[in-house]
Amino acid sequence: MHIKAKIVALLGVALISAPAIATAQQTTIRAGTLIDGRGGIQRNLVVAIEGTRIARIESGNARASYDLSQLTVLPGLIDAHVHIGAHFGRDGRASTPGETPAEQALYGLENAHMMLMAGFTTVQSIGAASDVPLRDAIARGKIPGPRLLTAVSPVRDPSMTVAQIREHVRKAVADSADVIKIFASKSIREGGGQTLSDEQILAACSEAKNLGKRVWVHAHAASAVRAATVAGCTTVTHGSQITDAEAELMAERGTFFEPQTGLLLQNYLENKARFLGDGNFDEAGFKFMADGIALNDTMFKMAIKHKALKINMGTDAVAGAHGQNAREIIYRVQKGGQGAMDAITSATSINADAIGLKDRIGALAPGMDADLIAVEGDPLADITALSRVVFVMKGGKVYRNIAPGQ
Ligand SMILES: [Zn+2]
Repeated sequence: MHIKAKIVALLGVALISAPAIATAQQTTIRAGTLIDGRGGIQRNLVVAIEGTRIARIESGNARASYDLSQLTVLPGLIDAHVHIGAHFGRDGRASTPGETPAEQALYGLENAHMMLMAGFTTVQSIGAASDVPLRDAIARGKIPGPRLLTAVSPVRDPSMTVAQIREHVRKAVADSADVIKIFASKSIREGGGQTLSDEQILAACSEAKNLGKRVWVHAHAASAVRAATVAGCTTVTHGSQITDAEAELMAERGTFFEPQTGLLLQNYLENKARFLGDGNFDEAGFKFMADGIALNDTMFKMAIKHKALKINMGTDAVAGAHGQNAREIIYRVQKGGQGAMDAITSATSINADAIGLKDRIGALAPGMDADLIAVEGDPLADITALSRVVFVMKGGKVYRNIAPGQ
């Protein structure tokens, strides 16, 4: 066929099929190794993305829009517990009096950007009112950041009546909270004893459930963990003082457990001078935290022996920690003795389930949102590969691509 005729023929085909093409722009990614987020691993695949979703995953070595054949492709990582607005201010300190709302908003955006570049395509902030405009701004799709969920305003005050607690939960939901956060125990810097009564915990959890919301419970003391679990709360976060009995109870009731072992306390200690002098960040508080690392290690090793316990991944990232979120996953494997695949699943499909998005994110499969990342190396052999993120796609849009050979 004459070249001109060939072009005309191709144009004809393009015109005939134009309506179908216009609705879904296709991008393809060649993956050398693909970890699917649900415990599966496959090699030499092509992922086809149409619009914001994964359309197909097929074996083969076909030419693709992005050649990640030398890399490991995973679902976008999820951190189910961050404080996205927390930052070190102008003077480098964690407390930032006198800052304007505009300055605070921009620091939040910095944190969002750093986490997305580190491969975290979804984070849940636990939580502040200032998260709401940031969440909505990222959702508009013009600025780079992870998909953001927020608790808006936590329940914290033990002097509240049951009725006041229920009212607080309703107000948070009216203010567009995605999740409810309650503090059922003191800070680890104050020993972690239970603060809210069992009745107050039940009130918060049942009110949230009635409104279709999940509940994240800050609890160190074993008694607070038991109360939260029996009350049907979604997730216990911290849990530094639990024993086998609480791990077993959470496993039986299907409660998610979100321990922090590798980033939270380490980040406080690494940045001690920036936190010291603010509230309970005194020398005694730092002693509790320094001692807490080994206690958490022991607790985590105990928890992973409970095979039915759904351990999810939330770093509790505060000022200084955003963008380093993968340290928690890496630490769980290197120091906690967790299998690399289990640690990855905690940060992908288990986290997606914990935050109520398991049908959309946390796994690579047809129909899921096209949130995927690529890392250099094999994280199953060397978990530190998760700190070498070279490609980030969220909702079908590429936000980072420093993959070699592109
Ligand atoms: Zn927190």
